[in-house]
Amino acid sequence: MTTYTPMMQQYLAIKAEYEDAFLFFRLGDFYEMFFDDAIKASQILEITLTGRDAGGDERVPMCGVPYHSAQSYIETLVSKGYKVAICEQVEDPKQAKGVVKREVIQVITPGTLVEGKTIDNKSNIFIGCAERLSEQEFAFAYLDVSTGEANSFLIEGGTKGLFQQLQAYNIRELVVTEELKLLLQDQAANLGIVLSIENEEMGEEKAGKYLIHLPKKCYGAAKYLLQYIERTQMRSLSHIQPFTYTEAKQYLQIDANSKRNLELLQSIRGKDQKGTLLWILDETVTAMGGRKLKQWLHQPLANRTLIEERLDIVTDLIDDFFLRDELRELLKQVYDLERLAGRVAFGNAGGRDLAQLRESLRQVPAIKEKLIESNKETLVTLANKMDACEDIEQLLSKAITDQPPVAIKDGDVIREGYSKELDELRYIARNGKDWIAQLEQKERERTGIKNLKIGFNRVFGYYIEVTKSNLSNVDYNRYHRKQTLANAERFITEELKEKETQILHAEEQSLALEYELFVELREQLKAYIPRVQQLASLISELDVYLSFAAVSEKYHFTRPKFHDGKGIKIIAGRHPVVEKMLNKQGYVPNDCVLTEEKNMMLITGPNMSGKSTYMRQVALIVIMAQMGCYVPCDEAELPITDQIFTRIGAADDLASGQSTFMVEMLESQNAITNATERSLLLFDEIGRGTSTYDGMALAQAMMEYIHDHIGANTLFSTHYHELTALEEELGRLQNVHVSAIEKNGNVVFLHKVKKGAADKSYGVHVAKLADMPQEIIDRAQRLLEQFESQQLDHPMPRKKEEALQLSLFEEEPKPEKNELESNEKEVLERLQSADIVSMTPIEA
Ligand code: ADP
Repeated sequence: MTTYTPMMQQYLAIKAEYEDAFLFFRLGDFYEMFFDDAIKASQILEITLTGRDAGGDERVPMCGVPYHSAQSYIETLVSKGYKVAICEQVEDPKQAKGVVKREVIQVITPGTLVEGKTIDNKSNIFIGCAERLSEQEFAFAYLDVSTGEANSFLIEGGTKGLFQQLQAYNIRELVVTEELKLLLQDQAANLGIVLSIENEEMGEEKAGKYLIHLPKKCYGAAKYLLQYIERTQMRSLSHIQPFTYTEAKQYLQIDANSKRNLELLQSIRGKDQKGTLLWILDETVTAMGGRKLKQWLHQPLANRTLIEERLDIVTDLIDDFFLRDELRELLKQVYDLERLAGRVAFGNAGGRDLAQLRESLRQVPAIKEKLIESNKETLVTLANKMDACEDIEQLLSKAITDQPPVAIKDGDVIREGYSKELDELRYIARNGKDWIAQLEQKERERTGIKNLKIGFNRVFGYYIEVTKSNLSNVDYNRYHRKQTLANAERFITEELKEKETQILHAEEQSLALEYELFVELREQLKAYIPRVQQLASLISELDVYLSFAAVSEKYHFTRPKFHDGKGIKIIAGRHPVVEKMLNKQGYVPNDCVLTEEKNMMLITGPNMSGKSTYMRQVALIVIMAQMGCYVPCDEAELPITDQIFTRIGAADDLASGQSTFMVEMLESQNAITNATERSLLLFDEIGRGTSTYDGMALAQAMMEYIHDHIGANTLFSTHYHELTALEEELGRLQNVHVSAIEKNGNVVFLHKVKKGAADKSYGVHVAKLADMPQEIIDRAQRLLEQFESQQLDHPMPRKKEEALQLSLFEEEPKPEKNELESNEKEVLERLQSADIVSMTPIEA
């Protein structure tokens, strides 16, 4: 065995405890990495790999990053899914006997990285923890280390349900036991979710205060999570709030898949927000408001009273444009109170942070006043709930200067009058400086050297500088040489020396005292954190209400009405995103009326006519309404919906055949097993992914099942015209179609939803629209008519078809036989090999 130097032995001992992390080992001004860490990190971070003698036979691989720029390197590693353990020198190297003592002071992980360039202020950074309760059930807890919000709920649906939620909440790191890791690791790796092991729970007496709202079932998940946070962050968790518990029934449940399909927070194509419902709704001005809005989008309400409460506030705000404007201007001055509170608790808040906290709190009295002056009951109530935290503002005003610098150790953070001792030290330091200015003047007069000056540098302290040409005037009895420069000499006098000691001492002491006072203040502030968090929550709500009011007015939304029944009545509804994309021009509004007796709709119509848009707009209106926002239509009367399920193919599904069909069946199965009569189901193009009769049979069977056993409000779209016949047998079913007309032989989509079934398939016309050769169009038209008359489910045998054709189209001039054969053969081959079931219009 190699015998390493004591320092390397220390490194190895610490590294052994943090095998799953890069160990950033502090050596002077650098964080160094060794061995495999160094090899891997040098590649990922693109930094030079070197080596170091460490007592062994070979040099140890090493690479390092300067400590002052470490943050960006840490961020790079963590954003790629790695962890970084920060190991600091924990004693003064000058005092150390032997190797300087070092300890890991924090482990930064993908779920706990809360500072840096890649952090989106308007998004929460959640770290989650799952505990398996049974085959199908998980307890799930998650929290945001930067804001202290913590929540928990139960997940049904086994590992699949779990992963759906992880994706919906954008969980990058999941804390699990070793055993659970084995079960989840393959799928987690596919989705880029980091699994971190925690085998211990935080003890009940310590964790108790965080668990007060939780059912017993969720204790485990919360306690493992708390333990992990404490073990990795190694500091105060005083800003972590008690976990809230989300009971499924309180909210409109939208499974993760439907959130994606409906493009609530993420568009299907891009990662950006454009094209999402969030993109329409988000006009919040604070980062906290932005996060709150996302939470509401994740969990619209399912309680009529609470929904109406939100709508009342929005209504009152819509009424008063000036109030809204004033409030928004005030909110713009409010910084991220939640994250500021988090930084105070974490002990990394600086002078600037406290100044921002103060600045934010200063806005609150005016915000309250505006709300109260409105004389609207809802707004007055909101104002009365806000604790302006004046005592905290006063404390900060008294303690912190107007514009503190970034670094606390630079001084100028603590305001005059806050500490007598500090003021005295500062007086000495400052007076000393005046004294020096006077001395400079005096010495100039005494020596007659006009450009004599007194300066200061860190190495030599104070000095009197005289240029070479003036040296003859210097009195060497009083002036002692200190330093020689190219064209000047620097001197010190007894008098100056004495003052220097005084000034430097006072300055040093005052800086040290300032730092001490600052840390004390920060500690003191911890006690106020829950009040600041409470206020932050109300401010962010106000921000969201203002955003709702603004978009409702801007896009001409109306207030939805709720009833306790089940029917849906939407008059002149619009899809807010498609409408905005079309720049308001030409969006065709559509009604949707589902009564208790007839609450299933079968929508037919050609591709691209707007079936899918229509279904989505109904779902979006339901969601927006239950968030407490106005909705895009002229009139809406809605029930309280408990769950939304969608089976909507993303456009890119089309390519992949069988597996896509499996996805379709799984989504349908999920909907059918979990829906209740208060749910809303959307089935777009059901059965599309398989052969005609197979798909049609399944679609019919599902419709019948939903009709007979579930009774949920359901919208189906289909291109199987045969299914429209079901209207006669299924009492709850109504046919509608999206119309299109032919104009000069071309199809024009009207996007208008009308009663009854579509009478004609427009596939051929769409092909025409796509400039398909006329020959193919004509031929397909003829074949179509024959298919319809023959009810065939397989391509027409050419012989038989030709015979038929002769009898049907006798008058048509017959082309030359050879020409006909080769042309028709080609056409037929192409048609035969075409998968018309999953074909896009363009392909057609
Ligand atoms: P389908 O599901 O019938 O294939 P889509 O719902 O995908 O059709 O709609 C196709 C396109 O038609 C949409 O991208 C949109 O641009 C346009 N569209 C849909 N509905 C409307 C409408 N009501 N008013 C105006 N344009 C619409």
